[in-house]
Amino acid sequence: MDFDLREELVAIRDLARDFARDVCAPGAAERDRKEEFPTEPVRKAAELGLMGLLVPEEYGGSGLGNLALCLALIEVNKADASVGVTLSVHNSLCSSCINSWGSEELKRKYLPRLASGELLGAYALSETGSGSDAGSLTCKAVRDGDHYVVTGSKAWITSGDHADVYILFARTGGEGNKGVSAFVVERAWKGLTVGKKEPKLGIRSSSTVQLHFDKCKVPASNLLGELNQGFKVALHTLDGGRIGIACQALGIMEACLDASVRYARERKQFDKSIGEFQAIQWKLAEMKLRIDAARLLIYRAASLRDAKKPHGLEAAEAKLFASQSANWCAKEAVQVHGGAGYCADFPVERYFRDARITEIYEGTTEIQKVVIARHLLRE
Ligand SMILES: Cc1cc2nc3c(=O)[nH]c(=O)nc-3n(C[C@H](O)[C@H](O)[C@H](O)COP(=O)(O)OP(=O)(O)OC[C@H]3O[C@@H](n4cnc5c(N)ncnc54)[C@H](O)[C@@H]3O)c2cc1C
Repeated sequence: MDFDLREELVAIRDLARDFARDVCAPGAAERDRKEEFPTEPVRKAAELGLMGLLVPEEYGGSGLGNLALCLALIEVNKADASVGVTLSVHNSLCSSCINSWGSEELKRKYLPRLASGELLGAYALSETGSGSDAGSLTCKAVRDGDHYVVTGSKAWITSGDHADVYILFARTGGEGNKGVSAFVVERAWKGLTVGKKEPKLGIRSSSTVQLHFDKCKVPASNLLGELNQGFKVALHTLDGGRIGIACQALGIMEACLDASVRYARERKQFDKSIGEFQAIQWKLAEMKLRIDAARLLIYRAASLRDAKKPHGLEAAEAKLFASQSANWCAKEAVQVHGGAGYCADFPVERYFRDARITEIYEGTTEIQKVVIARHLLRE
C-alpha cells in the first residue's frame, strides 16, 4: 500500500479542507440548534465538484474515486457531520449505485445532474419494521405493463425531504432477500409523499424523514441490476457507504482531538495547564492513536473498492473501529473539557451527540461484527 497520496488526492483534500473551514464550520452549531438543512454548504459543495467524485468523467463527474471521496468526507465531517452525511449518502449510496448497477440510459439520465449537484440523491432501504433485517422489507412493487406500481413506506431516509432522486428497494418477488429489487425513483412522481421528519439527538441539520408510496408508478426501465437481485445491489452499495460513515467518524475524532488539545493548553487548574496532568495526556495520546489506526483502515478499504477488489470485510472493519473510536474520543473530549464540555458553547457537546449515529446507521456495530465473523467462519 502506498502511503503517499497522489497529487490529485492532496488537491481534493486541501480543497475540502478549505471548504469545511470557510463554508461548513461557521454555521454548523446554529444549523444544528435550528435543525436547519445545510442548503448553502451543499450548493457550494456542488460548485466545487464534491458531488461527483464517484461519477466517471464521461457522465459529468471527476471520477476521482473512493479514496478521494474519503479524503473530502473526513475534512467535511470534521467541521459539520450533517453536511458530511448528506454528501456521503449522495455520492456513495445514490450516484455510485446508479453508476454500478444502472443501464446506460439511466446513467445518462441521472448521473450528470447528480454530479453537478442539480439533483440531490438519497437511499431508501429501511422501513419501520425492517432495519438490520433489511431483507424483510414489505414495500411492494408490482409490474403493470411498462411500469411498476409501488405501495408502502420507508423510514429514516437521510435527506429524504430535500432529495430529488431515491434509490428505492421494494419487494417484487417472494419473501426474504431474493424477492427484493432496486429502482431509481424521483421525488416529483405522483403517489410519493414525504412523511414525518424525525427529531434527533445528533446530526440535527441532516434531515431524516419517512416516505410514503401510494400506487406510485415507476418506469420498468428504472430497475437497477436484475429483477429480484436488489439485495445484492443494497449490500454492494452499503459496502461503499460504510467507508463513508467511517470517514464521518474519523472527522469527528479529529475535531475532538483538536478541541481537546486546544483546551488542555488553555485551561489552568492547580496553577498548571491541565495538559500537564498525565491523566489528560493519556486521553490525547489514545485519541491520536485511534485516529491514525482508523485512517489506515479507511484508506485500505477505499483503495480496495477503487481497485474493484473484495472489500466487504475491510469496509466493516473500518466502520466498526472508526465508529466505536469516535464515540470513545467524543466521550473523552467532553471529559477533558469538564463542565464546559457539557455545554453547547463548546463544540465537543455537538461532537458527542453526532458521534452516536456512526454506530447505528448503514449497519449497526453489532451487524458489522456479524459481517466480520461471517467472513472468518466462511474461510
Ligand atoms: C439518523 C438516521 C439516518 C438514517 N438514514 C437512513 C437512510 O438514508 N436510508 C436507509 O435506508 N436507512 C437509514 N437509516 C436506518 C438505519 O440504517 C437503521 O436504523 C439501522 O440499520 C438499524 O436498524 P433499526 O433502527 O431498525 O434497528 P434494529 O435492526 O431494530 O436493531 C436494534 C438493535 O438490535 C441489534 N440487532 C439487530 N439484529 C441483530 C443481529 N442479527 N445480531 C445482533 N444484534 C442485532 C442492533 O444492532 C441494535 O442494537 C437511518 C437511521 C438513522 C437513525
